[in-house]
Amino acid sequence: MFGDSEHTGRVAIVTGGASGIGRAIAETLAGSGMRVVVADVNVEGGEAVAAGISGYFVSTDLADQKQCRALVDKTLNRYGRVDVLVNVAGYQHIDPVECFPEEEWSRMLAVMLTAPFLLTKYVWPHMKKQGWGRIINMASVHGQVASPFKCAYISAKHGLIGLTRTTALEGGPYGITVNAVCPAYVRTPLVENQIADQARTRGLSVDEVVEKVMLEPAAIKRLIEPAEVAAMVLYLCSDAAGAITGATLNIDLGWTAR
Ligand code: NAD
Repeated sequence: MFGDSEHTGRVAIVTGGASGIGRAIAETLAGSGMRVVVADVNVEGGEAVAAGISGYFVSTDLADQKQCRALVDKTLNRYGRVDVLVNVAGYQHIDPVECFPEEEWSRMLAVMLTAPFLLTKYVWPHMKKQGWGRIINMASVHGQVASPFKCAYISAKHGLIGLTRTTALEGGPYGITVNAVCPAYVRTPLVENQIADQARTRGLSVDEVVEKVMLEPAAIKRLIEPAEVAAMVLYLCSDAAGAITGATLNIDLGWTAR
């Protein structure tokens, strides 16, 4: 329809595209021929990624409903269509002293659950009209199992899997697939900061934190590379993945196998 690859000319919104997993996904989708809209609250990082892939950066704080709406409107104004939505933006807050930080609860759920819901709602009529769409939600191994001191994060990720399953059922008749990707620890700035924090508070070396603390439940004791997650997302965008919907795809080093 568009050119060499099945992806050429398709338009993808990638939230959290300025860094880490979102950045790898933006670069991989652009490399496959898609036109990529990078949305992030980090303006400098987002602009740099978009410039590197001839994409379009939209400065967006996903905690703000109006900015979620504006992201989809700007995408449609620029490209006239939207084929793929990848909800990646997120962050971690770990405070072993304050187990239930209330202010984190509201913001985390806004960014990591309400924003994916709103963006899904806003792209939906366009994907439905086209009879084709791909929505991929970056959940986590923590969407399926819990760890202490992460109430808001884990609740948001479990909720995101619920959103994925419900919208998958609703999208089926219209050629819209919705899936959740569930990684364990991926080598990104978010995780590198977490490792450094834990090393400091536990008095361990960085290697000890990775092997003995973070990856204790995993069968394979290494961090996942962002490109490995991006490859799974690209596959989910393909026509070959058209029968996969409502799925939670683990890329978790065997974490949830036990
Ligand atoms: P990262 O910190 O490298 O990137 C996250 C991006 O989200 C940043 O660019 C940040 O600016 C953006 N962001 C944060 N709040 C935002 C907001 N309000 N509006 C717009 N953008 C915002 O983190 P990452 O490790 O690449 O994580 C990306 C996603 O993957 C997150 O949802 C995270 O929960 C999930 N995840 C990460 C891991 C991991 O080990 N790194 C594992 C499982 C799931």
